[in-house]
Amino acid sequence: MELWMTEFQTKNLGLTTRIKETLYSGKSKFQDIAVVDSEQFGRMLVLDGVYQTSVFDEYIYHEMIAHVPLFTHPNPQKVLIIGGGDGGSAREVVKHSSVEKAVMVEIDGLVVEVSKQYLPEISEAMRNQHPKLDLRIDDGIKHIAELENHYDVIIVDCSDPIGPGEGLFTYEFYQSVKKALKADGLFVQQTESPFIHAELLQRAWKDIASLFPITRLYLAPIPLYPSGTHCFTIGSKVHDPLTVDTSTIEELNTRYHNRDIQKSCFTLPNFIKQMLK
Ligand code: SAM
Repeated sequence: MELWMTEFQTKNLGLTTRIKETLYSGKSKFQDIAVVDSEQFGRMLVLDGVYQTSVFDEYIYHEMIAHVPLFTHPNPQKVLIIGGGDGGSAREVVKHSSVEKAVMVEIDGLVVEVSKQYLPEISEAMRNQHPKLDLRIDDGIKHIAELENHYDVIIVDCSDPIGPGEGLFTYEFYQSVKKALKADGLFVQQTESPFIHAELLQRAWKDIASLFPITRLYLAPIPLYPSGTHCFTIGSKVHDPLTVDTSTIEELNTRYHNRDIQKSCFTLPNFIKQMLK
């Protein structure tokens, strides 16, 4: 018997992939959690029926959400990851020699446990209890609400704005992020597809741009995600990703990110520039 799985991305569009087996299926207080092994994408984490990450292409997303903001800041020492329960962002953040402490606040402890068991490559830093990593099971919104002038860089590695991730795409959340950042701090958020989620992207851009003097959007190709083109939005108090001297950035062990991509990912097509006006 053949098994196929579909993620319904809009009411007219889905991504269907052939499944070898379901390795885990369960339910936490927050969401349905599954790990399936697929022919095309290898092992995938699926939350509430939405593909979160796959062994096939996770490196693109995790390298891009971590390294682009971290190389924009000249000396990121204290970094916060909100969400990111699979551990991929944490694995990339701890590679930076300047980073002294990476606090990761994931709301769902079961996502962490399941990822540690079934996605060993992605969850490496969590499994090995990397000394720079401080993993906390808590609501990221609550965590930053109590902080002021605390982090150099905040990485919002969240799921879609439904369920527990809903509050991570609001103006009030961006206000708290700004307050929790140091005077020259910056943050990044994954902001979905420019083809499928134009409205969300425009709203996030408008809110972030009204709070941060420097707002930039960059792109990466991610086959697993809707339309295969994914956006990330940076809000920065001082440092501009467009003026980074890429010749000075540290060489890391990466499969996608490099010095050229650090700059070229900010090159936008006209239809996206138009959307952000
Ligand atoms: N790369 C993925 C994507 O773009 O779909 C996101 C992966 S990561 C698994 C997203 C995580 O954000 C989930 O594990 C979810 O539990 C977590 N999350 C959602 N809302 C949160 C909140 N308020 N605080 C902390 N973590 C949250």
